[in-house]
Amino acid sequence: MNTEERKHKFMEPVPDNLSDYCHKEGLPSYREGQILEWIWKKKALDPLSMSNLPTSVREDLREKIYLPEIEKMNKSGDKTVKYKVKFWDKNEAETVLIKEGGRTTVCVSTGIGCPYGCLFCATGGMGFVRQLTPYEIAVQVLLAASAGKANPTNVVLMGMGEPFYDYKGAMAACDMINDKRMLGIGQRKITVSTAGVVPGILFLAKSAKQYKLAVSLNASNDTDRKKIMPVARKWTLSALMDAVKQYTDITNKKVTFEYVLIKGFNDGPSDARKLSELLDGVLCKVNLIPYNRAEKGFERPEPAILLRFQEALKKEGVEVTTRFSKGEDIQAACGQLFTGKQKKMR
Ligand code: SAH
Ligand code: SF4
Repeated sequence: MNTEERKHKFMEPVPDNLSDYCHKEGLPSYREGQILEWIWKKKALDPLSMSNLPTSVREDLREKIYLPEIEKMNKSGDKTVKYKVKFWDKNEAETVLIKEGGRTTVCVSTGIGCPYGCLFCATGGMGFVRQLTPYEIAVQVLLAASAGKANPTNVVLMGMGEPFYDYKGAMAACDMINDKRMLGIGQRKITVSTAGVVPGILFLAKSAKQYKLAVSLNASNDTDRKKIMPVARKWTLSALMDAVKQYTDITNKKVTFEYVLIKGFNDGPSDARKLSELLDGVLCKVNLIPYNRAEKGFERPEPAILLRFQEALKKEGVEVTTRFSKGEDIQAACGQLFTGKQKKMR
């Protein structure tokens, strides 16, 4: 196959639409289950080894199925592992495996770079190459589990990229992660984090699925939010909060608001007050993420300021926790994932 043919074939790798493939090829319906078992349970690297399939099907699949490869791994002092995964077009994304308490969480990427370019995020600084397909998102869980000899209990779509840039694709990825024939992880153990892409939130709300929603707020008002998150120009806080309200009304589930605390920018008492006003009456909790070193011009607040912010929210009755990201020493923490050409300061 030449590069152009490969490109065409893998733009939508067969595992993304296996039913269509089987239908088109006139295969009996049980073949779909067999192929799924080979990919997801037996982790067959080479379709030619799928011994219960006819040779012609194996040969054809060899042209159409590919398993992304782990290019590199880094292990943190806190045992967090970061994998660099390479896709068919040589683009790379990072996947993080985090073990904490009884949980093993895989943090998957949804894009090569990110279209939204938040100023404080290393992925945002890369620009945007392309969105990953549902299979390419879900298969990262399989790769990290195999390489890390782990049994993931939770999956978060919180790596490189914005899941809801392609919200149908993000939901299809969650469905693959959830499907018992594939990864079999419970819907409540899968979280999608969005920078505030309203149509994606509404799509999830109306899907009748139990996937959890996290929304990156990072500021308590539109003016500040627009300064650091270009996505805020498209969807204002009022539109965002309206969508969140629809989500909580329909699902009766709490939303997690992520709030990256940046020194001198959004960490003052008036920010805490405005934030608690914004969230008044919303079924939610707040996850404070002290800024991780990623882009120039931003710093993490001192511990006393963090505490003051957290206490101020608590006093207003907001449920709040602080997440000290794991894997900061290997640039695997929130906002540090990056596979671009070169980075001057990280
Ligand atoms: N695009 C999605 C998911 C990926 S980003 C989103 O924005 O929600 C995952 C989380 O990392 C987001 O909550 C984001 O606000 C946070 N983040 C980005 N850069 C960060 C940094 N430098 N330090 C701490 N958290 C950061
Ligand atoms: Fe994209 Fe999320 Fe990073 Fe913003 S924080 S640039 S939306 S990955």
